[in-house]
Parts: sequence; structure tokens; C-alpha cells
Amino acid sequence: MAACRDVTRDLTLASEVPLTTYRRAQIALHLMICRHCRCHKAQLEQMQRLLQAAQAQQPEADGSMPAEVRARISDKLHER
Ligand SMILES: [Zn+2]
Repeated sequence: MAACRDVTRDLTLASEVPLTTYRRAQIALHLMICRHCRCHKAQLEQMQRLLQAAQAQQPEADGSMPAEVRARISDKLHER
């Protein structure tokens, strides 16, 4: 049986690294019997939903500069 440590690591990485079908099946079996890992998975999903909601409310939150700031910098550069 998969160890909790491995399952939580793979659940955390799954959004960035695709898991094999075999690994997904192992994790699904583990989640059926382990409430700790189910809880971890639910927390990850909740965090992803909150991050998506925050990004939807603040499109600039992705690290890019707001359009207004970009326009001001561009104006200053073209003054010279
Ligand atoms: Zn577990």
C-alpha cells in the first residue's frame, strides 16, 4: 500500500506533474481507506479554489503590472 507521505507529495504535485494511470489508481485506493490523506486532498482543492477566486478578483495578482502603471511609465519614457 502507498505510504501517506508519498500520497500527499503526489497529490500536491499532481497539479503540475501528470501522474500515471497506475499511480492515480494507487492513490485512489489509498484515499478510500485513509481519512488523513482525504483531508489533505480536500484542503488542497479548497486552496486551489481560493487562489482561483482571488486571481479572478485581482487579474494583476499574477505579478504583472497594472495597465495604469504601465501607461505612466511609458509616458515618462517618451517625455525624454
Ligand atoms: Zn494516507
